[in-house]
Amino acid sequence: MDAGSSLRAPDWSRIELITFQKDFYTQHPEVAAMSEAQVAQMRASLEMTVVGRDVPKPVATFEQANFPDYILEEVAKAGFTKPTPIQCQGWPMAMSGHDVIGIAQTGSGKTLAFILPAIVHINAQPLLQRGDGPIVLILCPTRELANQTQQEVNKFGHSSRIKNTCVYGGVPKAKQAGDLSRGVEIVIATPGRLLDFLESGTTNLQRVTYLVLDEGDRMLDMGFEPQIRKIVSQIRPDRQTLLWSATWPKEVVQMSRTFLKDPIQVNIGSLQTSATHNVIQHILLIEPREKMAKFFDLLKQVMPQGERCLVFVATKRLADQLTRSLRQEGWPALAIHGDKSQNERDWVLEQFKTGKSPLMVATDVASRGLDVKHIRAVINYDFPNNVEDYVHRIGRTGRAEEHGTAYSFFTYEDAKKARDLIAVLREAGQEIPPKLQQMATSSAAYASKTRGYRKTGGYGRGRY
Ligand code: AMP
Repeated sequence: MDAGSSLRAPDWSRIELITFQKDFYTQHPEVAAMSEAQVAQMRASLEMTVVGRDVPKPVATFEQANFPDYILEEVAKAGFTKPTPIQCQGWPMAMSGHDVIGIAQTGSGKTLAFILPAIVHINAQPLLQRGDGPIVLILCPTRELANQTQQEVNKFGHSSRIKNTCVYGGVPKAKQAGDLSRGVEIVIATPGRLLDFLESGTTNLQRVTYLVLDEGDRMLDMGFEPQIRKIVSQIRPDRQTLLWSATWPKEVVQMSRTFLKDPIQVNIGSLQTSATHNVIQHILLIEPREKMAKFFDLLKQVMPQGERCLVFVATKRLADQLTRSLRQEGWPALAIHGDKSQNERDWVLEQFKTGKSPLMVATDVASRGLDVKHIRAVINYDFPNNVEDYVHRIGRTGRAEEHGTAYSFFTYEDAKKARDLIAVLREAGQEIPPKLQQMATSSAAYASKTRGYRKTGGYGRGRY
C-alpha cells in the first residue's frame, strides 16, 4: 500500500482556524534609513537577486535582524561574526511572515536562515497541549540532512527550551514515537517515516503553522513529491511555508506554485548551476582503467596528516571495494552508502567528523547537506550523473568561507557532461582543460558513435 494512502485531507474550508501570528519583523532604524540605491548595491555585492512584491530590505548584521536577545546570545556563543548573504536577506523575509523561496547552496548558512525565525515563531504561539503535534515541520530528503538540521536546532533552540525530534526511516520507531507522543515543537522529518506516524495517529499536523521544505530539488529527484503532497494536505493552508533549494529547475518552480502562496524569493548567486567559489576545481582527464592507480597517486599528493578527504564513487559496491583496497594499502578509510544501517552510517560519519578516520568513501547519499568542517579535498573517483550533483559534491569542501580543492576524474564515458561542466568551471573562474573543451565540442558526434569519429580528432577510446 502507498505510504499515507489512508490519510484523508481535511476540508479546510469547513474548519474554523484559530488565528495565529506570523509577522514578527520590525525594521531596524539603520535598515529603514538605507536608500533604494544602497539596497541595490548591497544586494549586488552579496551576489543576490530578489523576486516578488514588498521584499524587505536586507540586513547587514545580527542586531539589524532584530532578533530577541536570547537568540542574539546564542549567535554570539556560536562565534559567528556576521550573517551570510542568504541570512542577510532570508531573515527579514521569513520574519515578516511571507512565504519564502530561497535558492542557495548547502554551506551557505541556509539552515540558520530558516531556524532562527522558526524559533521566534514558536515562542509567539500558545504552548503545546497534550496530544498536540509540532508547530514547525521541516521536511528533508535524507537522514543525514535531518540529523544536521537537528544539530543546529539543538544549538540555537535550547535557551528557549524548544523540544525537537528527528523522524526518519531505517531505525526503530519506538524512540521517535515516544518523542512525538510527549510533544515537540519542531519535527525534522523525511517524508516516508512521517507519513507512517501520521497514519498511525502517533502525531498530527494540526498545529503546524511554519513549514519548511528543505532541499526541494533533491526531494523531487528522490521521488518524494507524492508523499510531500499528502503531508502538506494535512497542514492548514494559511501556514507560512519556506521552500529551499540549491537549484531552480522547472520542477521546483512547479513545486513552489503548488505549496506556496504569493511567495517572495531570494537567489544567491546565479540561477544556473553554480559551484561555490571557495573551491579550486581540477578536472583530470584519464582512461577508465587508469582510475585506481591515478587515485592512489592523487591521495599521496592531497592527504597530509589529519586532514579530511571525501571520495565519491558511483555505486555502493565500488564504495566497499575501494575502501577495502585503501585499507589494504594502509589508508584509514571507511565507506558510507545506502546499504549500511543507520547506526553504521552515524558511526562512520562520526569517525570522519572527528578526524579518527580522515578518509571517507561515499555514494551520493553523502553528497548533499553533509556539513563537516575542514574537508580539505573532495575526489570524484567517478564523475556524477549530472553537474548539479557535481556542484553538490564539491560543495562538501570550501564550507563557510574555508577553502578547498576538488579533483574529478573525467573519462570518455562522461563526455556528454562536458559542456555543462565547462559552464560551471567558467562561472567559478576555474581553468578549463583544453581536452575537456574539445570533448564538449565533439560530444554530439561522440554520442552518435560514428565510425570515423576518431579520425575527425574527437576523443574516442584510448586518446587520454
Ligand atoms: P548550512 O548551509 O546551513 O549547511 O550551513 C553551513 C555551516 O555554516 C554550518 O556549520 C553553520 O553552523 C555555519 N554557519 C551558519 N551561519 C553562519 C554565520 N553567520 N557565520 C559563520 N558560520 C555560519
